[in-house]
Amino acid sequence: NGYCTPSGMINDACCNFETIETVNKKLAPVLNDLVSTSFFRYWKTTLHKDCPFWQENPLCVLRDCSVIEAEESEIPEHWKSSSLSVVDESSLGSPFSFLAKSCEYEEADFCVVEDEASKDGCYVDLIKNPERFTGYAGESPARIWGAIYKENCFGSQNKLGGSLGTSEDGFDDTCMEKRVFYKLISGLHSSISTHICDQYLDRTTGNWIRNLTCFADRVGNHPDRIHNLYFTYTILLRAITKLAPYLEDHKVHHFCTGNGTDTQKIEDLVLQVSDITRKCGPTFDESTLFSGPGSHQLKEEFKTHFRNISQIMDCVGCEKCKLWGKLQVSGLGTALKILFSYDGRPELYKLTRGEIVALFNTVHRLAESVEAVDRFRDLHQKQGLNQ
Ligand code: FAD
Repeated sequence: NGYCTPSGMINDACCNFETIETVNKKLAPVLNDLVSTSFFRYWKTTLHKDCPFWQENPLCVLRDCSVIEAEESEIPEHWKSSSLSVVDESSLGSPFSFLAKSCEYEEADFCVVEDEASKDGCYVDLIKNPERFTGYAGESPARIWGAIYKENCFGSQNKLGGSLGTSEDGFDDTCMEKRVFYKLISGLHSSISTHICDQYLDRTTGNWIRNLTCFADRVGNHPDRIHNLYFTYTILLRAITKLAPYLEDHKVHHFCTGNGTDTQKIEDLVLQVSDITRKCGPTFDESTLFSGPGSHQLKEEFKTHFRNISQIMDCVGCEKCKLWGKLQVSGLGTALKILFSYDGRPELYKLTRGEIVALFNTVHRLAESVEAVDRFRDLHQKQGLNQ
């Protein structure tokens, strides 16, 4: 293997690295167009909730850390909580729920879901707030990552003790569900680190640069972290493949933005995404999880611990990191819900607009990370040749 060039099967998934790279070449540009559309670029979230676990002070050291909220006028009227109280949801012709939930999460949810109809929170234009280096470092993020990895410690057979950065080998005697849980978090961590290093602020020049040393230290020199990045992507792709027929069956005003041309464009792009993911074949087999004895309890524990991670996001001490952390945990939670909550019966899907937006943006984040790995590989080779 060359630098950052894993090959062969992705452990616990059912496709190989090469397939993911080939698919990504087609998928990434389409996802890029999709997340720029009005339906997918606005996401509502609460950035000022108290951390439920400990006292946390905002620690942003850079101006770039703060989030620019969207203008009220940018948001289609029928998404807003003020109009939702008077609109009959069914008249929107959308299968996605816009209305307030009666509790923080429902049985099927893997996350504590923030709902769009709540009076709290604000809309954020994700394009105007890119995920990149913010300078958030030190004790605060270390504590958050530590708390996140501790959530991996569940179930009677746990042998990991929630340690940070454990290598793949540590999982030989662990059940698949726990391996998957850990790999999802580690894959997300690799993806966030990849974005930080791909858009890194050179403080001496003030320029945004691609920082190979940063990438090598955090991801590139750790084959297990690269592996987990691709693994997380296989789960997200599988969720999109499962969701695709449901999206195609309910074409009517799915992605209603109040502008017909826009809506048509969004529907076309979503169809392209589902077409590409379907053609790539199965990337992950969800039936291998939660099928043995005790699996019901294991699934409930898995959910509880994943929901805890979604709440830990309220403790992130940098607004922009919190925005992307929340969005991606919500996107992963939505994928898990699609794969594990409905017994393979799409007619039962109950998803909010916020969850759909989070899911597609999270897939896009992973797609960009896989592209960035390729760019870092090139950079590594060029620098190697120049030495
Ligand atoms: P960290 O990335 O903090 O890692 C801590 C430890 O975890 C490492 O020492 C290692 O032992 C282990 N580890 C690292 N990667 C993996 C992996 N893939 N799998 C398993 N174990 C691993 N900073 C920004 O500049 N921009 C952002 O958008 C941003 N978003 C963030 C979102 C969240 C939810 C959090 C918690 C932090 C975010 N940060 C962001 C901070 C960033 O992730 C790092 O924590 C920070 O840059 C310090 O990095 P570090 O090198 O000390 O290691």
